[in-house]
Amino acid sequence: MTNIQMVDLQTQYDQIQDEINHALRQVLKSAQFIKGPEVTRFEENLSKYLGINHVIGCGNGTDALQIALMALDLPPESEVIVPDFTFIATAEVVSLLGHIPVFVDVDENNFNISPESIRANITDKTAAIIPVHLFGQSCDMASIMKIAEEYDLYIIEDNAQALGSTYIQNGKNKALGTIGHIGCTSFFPSKNLGGYGDGGALFTNDDNLAKKISIIANHGMETRYYHDVIGLNSRLDSLQAAILNVKLKYLNQYNQARYDSAQKYNHILNELEGIQTPVEETYTNHVFHQYTLKIKNEKSREQVLTDLQNHEIPYGIYYPVPLHQQKAFQTAKSKHGDCSRSIQLTRQVLSLPMHTELTDDMIEYIGQIIKGALKK
Ligand SMILES: *Cc1c(COP(=O)(O)O)cnc(C)c1O
Repeated sequence: MTNIQMVDLQTQYDQIQDEINHALRQVLKSAQFIKGPEVTRFEENLSKYLGINHVIGCGNGTDALQIALMALDLPPESEVIVPDFTFIATAEVVSLLGHIPVFVDVDENNFNISPESIRANITDKTAAIIPVHLFGQSCDMASIMKIAEEYDLYIIEDNAQALGSTYIQNGKNKALGTIGHIGCTSFFPSKNLGGYGDGGALFTNDDNLAKKISIIANHGMETRYYHDVIGLNSRLDSLQAAILNVKLKYLNQYNQARYDSAQKYNHILNELEGIQTPVEETYTNHVFHQYTLKIKNEKSREQVLTDLQNHEIPYGIYYPVPLHQQKAFQTAKSKHGDCSRSIQLTRQVLSLPMHTELTDDMIEYIGQIIKGALKK
């Protein structure tokens, strides 16, 4: 079987191209490319979808995290607790602003930041925590919010990988990104809600923070050419907003397709020795940004990778290096706690093709190759 992709945006586009082309043409005709009505419409649509008062578009997910930190006005050299096992953007922005990322360990089953490890690394310089809802499911938000209240810390949710997922508490669903003080997301093409280029957004229920965020994202100005604070040029452009307005309508359907594919992978791989299929926590609904296996023995993982390569099946190792060991953080000021589970995960994880266009045949084919590799 050929042409299995890690993410298949072409086939997805084929299904919705009339709507997308129409939406793009409207923007081109209006010539309102920056801060046009499409952007406002998207911000309104997404805030309705999430059940939050304010959504502010910006240039990308990394900027969203940076703007969130800037809006909180933390004292210089504050410590910001981040998971050791995530994409670098989460920690990069902390360093860029002169703060200190503090890397803490994650849970070995759900891969998300461990509340106990957060507690163990709080000092009197800690100002904020950035939990990342990794691979599509929620962190243990009840425990994290409790810690935040106890120590008076800000929570910025990095929801770049779990848009559309929820945290379930007392039988109620709360959209991820709406639980902490500020939520951030990315519309990078391969994300669950992806544009056709870069894009990002911030969410908050706090009117004051919302105002600060939109000012920072637009050169620190509320009135044109009057700059109140140092800001950024980071705006969601109208063409991306037009695409996202179309794709938001399909987000639940897309997330369901990912979920169904994950269950099919599980069905083939569940019983195999030496492998752990993704653990779904009961307090969330998983939207499978990634379908990530844990292969307990490093040699077996090597064998699986070799066989996948030989059959031209793409895969990902998210993530190959724990953040505290990245070269960048040997020079940038940072701290870390015991991150032994994160280190272990970098040696065990394997992410399989996951997108909205996977067929049963593709999943079966990939599953059989993994089965075969593990028997060798
Ligand atoms: C993708 C991603 C980001 C950054 O988003 P960009 O839009 O690429 O800047 C941040 N955090 C996590 C966890 C991500 O996966």
